[in-house]
Amino acid sequence: MSDAGDRAVPDPLRGAAVPEATAAIEAVDLEVGYGHLPVLRGLSMAVRPGEIVSLLGANGAGKTTTLLALAGVLSPISGSVLMSGRPAPVGLHRRAAAGLALICEDRSVFMGLTCRENLRLGRGSIEDSLELMPDLEPLLDRKVGLMSGGEQQMLTLARALAGRPSVLLADELTLGLAPLIVARLLACLRTAADRGVGVLIVEERAKRALQVSDRVCVLRRGEIVMEGTAVEMSSRVAEIEASYLSETADAAVSGPRSIEQ
Ligand code: ATP
Repeated sequence: MSDAGDRAVPDPLRGAAVPEATAAIEAVDLEVGYGHLPVLRGLSMAVRPGEIVSLLGANGAGKTTTLLALAGVLSPISGSVLMSGRPAPVGLHRRAAAGLALICEDRSVFMGLTCRENLRLGRGSIEDSLELMPDLEPLLDRKVGLMSGGEQQMLTLARALAGRPSVLLADELTLGLAPLIVARLLACLRTAADRGVGVLIVEERAKRALQVSDRVCVLRRGEIVMEGTAVEMSSRVAEIEASYLSETADAAVSGPRSIEQ
C-alpha cells in the first residue's frame, strides 16, 4: 500500500528509482456486496497519479463492483476508500466534486441533445474536450443519438477528462469498438495519465490490458490474485487467462447467483 511518504522505489519499466506518490485513489481492505451477498472480500489496491492500472478478471469476478465501490456508488460493509491519502467523501456526487470521474458501461450521454450540449453538461470546457479529442469538432452539432457508439464513447471520455479529474475510473471503455476508435480512446487515456490523472480501467482482455497499462491487477471471486507492472505480467499471460478459465469453471459448478438490489 502506498502512503504519504516520498519513498524511492525501483520502477521496473524504466529501471530507475522514482518517488512513490500518494495514491490518487486507494481501496483498503474493502468488503462490498449486494444485500447480504459479499462480492469483494478484503480488496486492497491503489492507483497512483500518472499511471494507468487495468483491472482484469472473468465475468462476475467483481470488476464493476470494485469501480462502483471506489466511486462511492456502493457503500462498503467494511474497509475504506482513500483519495489522495484522505478518507474519500461519501457518495458519488461528493467524490466527483473531490476530483473523481466515473465512466460506466452505459456511457451516460443524452441521446436527444447535441454533442455540444452534452459537453456543456460536463465539468470542463468544450475547448478542453476538443483539445483532448479533436475528432469531436465536426460532430458538435450532431444529435448524440445519431453518433456511432465509438463517437459517443469519445464524447464521454473527453467530457470526463475536460473536468480535470484527479482520478478516472472507466468500465469496459473500448468494448466492441472499432480499432481506430480504440486507439483514439487509449491515446487520450495516456495523455490524461501523463498529465497526472490516476486511471483505472476495467478490461476483460489480458493482452490489451498489458499493452495500455502501467500496472495490472487480476481479480478472482472478489480478491486480487495477481498484481504487477505490465512488464512483469506480460510473461504471465497464460497464468492470467488460466485464472479466468478456472473462475468460469467454478461458476458453472456453483450455478448462477441470485440477484438482489
Ligand atoms: P462482468 O465482466 O460480467 O461485468 P464483473 O467482474 O464486472 O463482471 P460484477 O458485475 O462486479 O462483476 O459482479 C460481481 C458479482 O456480483 C457477480 O456474481 C454478480 O452476479 C453480482 N452482482 C452484480 N450486481 C449485483 C446486484 N445488483 N445484485 C446482486 N448481485 C450482483
